[in-house]
Amino acid sequence: MGKKVLVLGEARDGQLRNVSFEAIAAGKKVAQGGEVIGVLIGVSVASLANELIQYGADRVLTVEDEKLGQYTSDGFSQAFMAVVEQEQPEGIVFGHTALGKDLSPKIAAKIGAGLISDATFVGEEDGEIVFTRPIYSGKAFEKITAKEGVVFSTVRPNNIEPLEKDTSRTGDVSEISVSITDLRTVIQDVVRKAADGVDLSEAKVIIAGGRGAKSEEGFKPLKELADVLGGAVGASRGACDADYCDYSLQIGQTGKVVTPDLYIACGISGAIQHLAGMSNSKVIVAINKDPEANIFNVADYGIVGDLFEVVPMLTEEFKKIKA
Ligand code: FAD
Repeated sequence: MGKKVLVLGEARDGQLRNVSFEAIAAGKKVAQGGEVIGVLIGVSVASLANELIQYGADRVLTVEDEKLGQYTSDGFSQAFMAVVEQEQPEGIVFGHTALGKDLSPKIAAKIGAGLISDATFVGEEDGEIVFTRPIYSGKAFEKITAKEGVVFSTVRPNNIEPLEKDTSRTGDVSEISVSITDLRTVIQDVVRKAADGVDLSEAKVIIAGGRGAKSEEGFKPLKELADVLGGAVGASRGACDADYCDYSLQIGQTGKVVTPDLYIACGISGAIQHLAGMSNSKVIVAINKDPEANIFNVADYGIVGDLFEVVPMLTEEFKKIKA
């Protein structure tokens, strides 16, 4: 018999993040033919419910409160636990985002479930749901089956294909009334760094620069290539430490973990800590002056050359293709 599965939808700037649709697709697998219920928490989130349904949710529950306008683990855990208590789910799926990483252990502990975090694949073997997740900083993968209790997982963005959007799908949208109390953290104000363009963790194309970019100015050709390809700019810690760019762009063991369709590493040596954040990208292109650079060991395509010559050439060629 199928399971009842709750999937948390995440919104940013009034729009659902793509990982929400990926989580719905994962939730469908976990449900094994059962019911997938989208959960939206925040202020004025009901308007997003239909899109979750169009991507495969059977119905949507919303929890709205002024105190949920900004994410806090206290507020969101109270809201999500109210949904859990009402629905008694057998499965839960979150995106493995900053929010998902913070909230999921708290909920798992409250309901006494194991947590399969950072899954990159959800499948079925002999009737059992099997999750694949990277271990040892992405050097190996393990398969995990939840044998008992609530099956609870977070899914890494950009790994699970969302279902095709079906605008004819309809489903019930209802609100759960929760009185949010005792918030130990209150967000007074959110100050945004001027990050323009595509969100790094969900980008399909990433152009990453390392110490080889030599300066903040040296990142400009990378940004131009990213713009032509509709991608985002990332960086090695070497580049961040040297103040060429902001730490929010850092990819690696102590930065963001990304899995774009295309990762172009420019002037990055390929230290193990950097590979931990990008080696599972679908196609890796490395541009480096040093033919012995370790990045070539993980690259699908390698270009030995000066990034300041190669990157503008690529930008020009892609512009021609796009014209
Ligand atoms: P370098 O190693 O200096 O490499 C620069 C490369 O650019 C060289 O290969 C050079 O040949 C090439 N180059 C130079 N000029 C050009 C040119 N004109 N054209 C083409 N190529 C050129 N690092 C991360 O990235 N992410 C992390 O999350 C991270 N976490 C860490 C955690 C710990 C605990 C520790 C100890 C380290 C961590 N590091 C991390 C740092 C990591 O070990 C490396 O120091 C760092 O990744 C090196 O950055 P880089 O490749 O840009 O610089």
